Amino acid sequence: PGGNTNRAREEKIVVTVRLRPLSKREQSSKDQIAWECVDDHTIVYNPGPQERVALPASFSFDKVFGPDCSTENVYEDGVKMVALSSLMGINATIFAYGQTSSGKTYTMRGITEKAVNDIYMHIINTPERDFRIKVSGLEIYNENVRDLLNSESGKSLKLLDDPEKGTVVEKLVEETAKDDQHLRHLIHVCDAQRQVGETALNDTSSRSHQIIRLTIESTLRESSNCVRSYVASLNFVDLAGSERTSQTNAEGIRLREGCHINLSLMTLTTVIRKLSVGKRSGHIPYRDSKLTRILQHSLGGNARTAIICTLSPATSHAEQSRNTLLFATRAK
Ligand code: ADP
Ligand code: MG
Repeated sequence: PGGNTNRAREEKIVVTVRLRPLSKREQSSKDQIAWECVDDHTIVYNPGPQERVALPASFSFDKVFGPDCSTENVYEDGVKMVALSSLMGINATIFAYGQTSSGKTYTMRGITEKAVNDIYMHIINTPERDFRIKVSGLEIYNENVRDLLNSESGKSLKLLDDPEKGTVVEKLVEETAKDDQHLRHLIHVCDAQRQVGETALNDTSSRSHQIIRLTIESTLRESSNCVRSYVASLNFVDLAGSERTSQTNAEGIRLREGCHINLSLMTLTTVIRKLSVGKRSGHIPYRDSKLTRILQHSLGGNARTAIICTLSPATSHAEQSRNTLLFATRAK
């Protein structure tokens, strides 16, 4: 506790907010802009004069990305440092959080692409070390875990407790990336595989979480008396639509109605809230969901986390956007 904890916390969880432009579909259905960025730090609710104003109507953050900002801007400002820490043996996780259609997948794909570029740039610029990168991809849907690199395995993968590695996903395929092209290909396979499931099960992507995990190992070449090895995970997490949690949060009663609940998303928000108030020890309910079990060692402790909260500016989504901003406020 005390000032120290606060300072450590600031470096460990980076929360940013990204407001996308009004989509074509929103424009053609005469939706209006309700949320606007007034500067780099502030986002305000500014509906037409006929709309009622529900408070709070203004939110401030260290950094807010408006409709004119690129994914590059979002990546450079905050996310990059978190991603690159995985090259130094520090586990890192990057999340996209927001309601369905707010831009999570759009943002996450761009971020992943930029991180992969930077990782290989670093490898080229660090000839004294040998690097090895392994990739795995999984999807959590209704607390079932599906392997995105093994389309043959139809059934849910089990989670096991390994005394050394912590929670491991049994039989999850891990491929070693030969080079950056190969890594991009493997990530693309995971994305495509998620879409296959989406079509088959009628838009599961709004209810499923996708994790692409890179395991990055490196050792110093030729200096056997000071071999320093690093190993860390870098996780890219495209979360299920947040409308599932905020509705259940608001009503409480729904908590017991299985079908409306996304246990993993609920548990994640609890874990993040606890971590953000500086409780890095004590009881954090990682074990309550598959998502938080899988990510346990990449959340809290020494790990670095970046959370990108995505929002639609549209009036029709104004309440959901406010819920996302409330989540972002609690997470920072
Ligand atoms: P989600 O994954 O949250 O459901 P998507 O990433 O699929 O949402 O985005 C919904 C739509 O909005 C997509 O057509 C996407 O291309 C577009 N979009 C999202 N964010 C942006 C942005 N910042 N700029 C332009 N288009 C965007
Ligand atoms: Mg998506």
